[in-house]
Amino acid sequence: MVARQNYTIEVVVPNMKTSDKLIEEVIRQSVGVEIVPLVRYLRNRKNVSEFKIAEGIKQEVNITRNWLYRLYDLNLVTFIRKKDKIKGWYIYYWTFNPGRVRDLQIDLRRKRLEKLKDRLKRERGSDFFICENKCIRLDFDQVTEYAYKCPECGTLMHQEDNAEHILSIEKEIQALEKALQS
Ligand SMILES: [Zn+2]
Repeated sequence: MVARQNYTIEVVVPNMKTSDKLIEEVIRQSVGVEIVPLVRYLRNRKNVSEFKIAEGIKQEVNITRNWLYRLYDLNLVTFIRKKDKIKGWYIYYWTFNPGRVRDLQIDLRRKRLEKLKDRLKRERGSDFFICENKCIRLDFDQVTEYAYKCPECGTLMHQEDNAEHILSIEKEIQALEKALQS
């Protein structure tokens, strides 16, 4: 019988799935969904020329370059350039900068929080009206303009109880504030 050895090995396995998901979400929101494949390609590589990236994502070099510049504007990529000895021009080699993702996530959350706070103010400060078919939601000025008749289905509009709406906005605000504190 082998005595159980009394030590533990701590293996830190990064949660690749979550962090991939986070990166893609941040890219989608801050740069654009079309650029996600480029980031996916570049993510685990280093110093890749834009020609090779274009080939790797099956995209035109000009478009690839434009996307790289957009990422560069947000410090999401870095580059080094080397002079091509034969052709005499510079070739750029790109590397993804995952360290920026967290900062951008915080920025996005802050912006969302501001938006939610505005919405909450609006929800608390005004009355909203809906029809029985829930076609459209109007504020007081709009509903008087339509003489309380739904512009979509023509039925009478009545004041909506927005307590639940307010509650769900408050919940999201709380969750965001908590996430921003961590
Ligand atoms: Zn309606």
